[in-house]
Amino acid sequence: MSHRSDGILEPRQLLPLVPPAERKALGPFVIIECVESIPCNPCVEACPKGAIRIEGDMNGTPSVDFDICDGCGLCVSACPGLAIFVLDMSLDAGAATVSLPYEYLPLPTVGDTVVTLSREGEVLGEGTVERVLSAKALDRTPIVTLSVPADHAMDVRHFTAKDSTA
Ligand code: SF4
Ligand code: SF4
Repeated sequence: MSHRSDGILEPRQLLPLVPPAERKALGPFVIIECVESIPCNPCVEACPKGAIRIEGDMNGTPSVDFDICDGCGLCVSACPGLAIFVLDMSLDAGAATVSLPYEYLPLPTVGDTVVTLSREGEVLGEGTVERVLSAKALDRTPIVTLSVPADHAMDVRHFTAKDSTA
């Protein structure tokens, strides 16, 4: 499959990575935005439920059994490529959450309003920090969960402090 040379996924590459609407409505799910063939598999090892598979040798790309994944997020922290996210699109009132790996300091604080960014680094809007799992708790990359408008959930993949864009 051809792809952008900057490694940013195109919409058509995202489609096979997300579960059907019925599964999205049930609760949190993982989205693994890893489509390059690289020798890597910590995500497989990190999932306590065995929901992630890489067919063949370690150079394949991961796939998820969405019937098994409960959106726990353990694989998010384990991915050296920062390519794994957990979305919850089952919430009411037009909101969703996006849990993403975050390697910058200082870590945000619960309740902070932050500027949400796309895969390309474009400003999308604002989000609210709902949860911060520190590296100490995970022994890996911290995970930050943001509350965002539901129609931004598929696009928010990073954020920055609100005052850093002023
Ligand atoms: S979110 Fe949890 S259950 Fe789902 S694939 Fe990752 S580690 Fe497994
Ligand atoms: S750990 Fe991350 S980079 Fe490695 S195969 Fe899994 S998703 Fe891809």
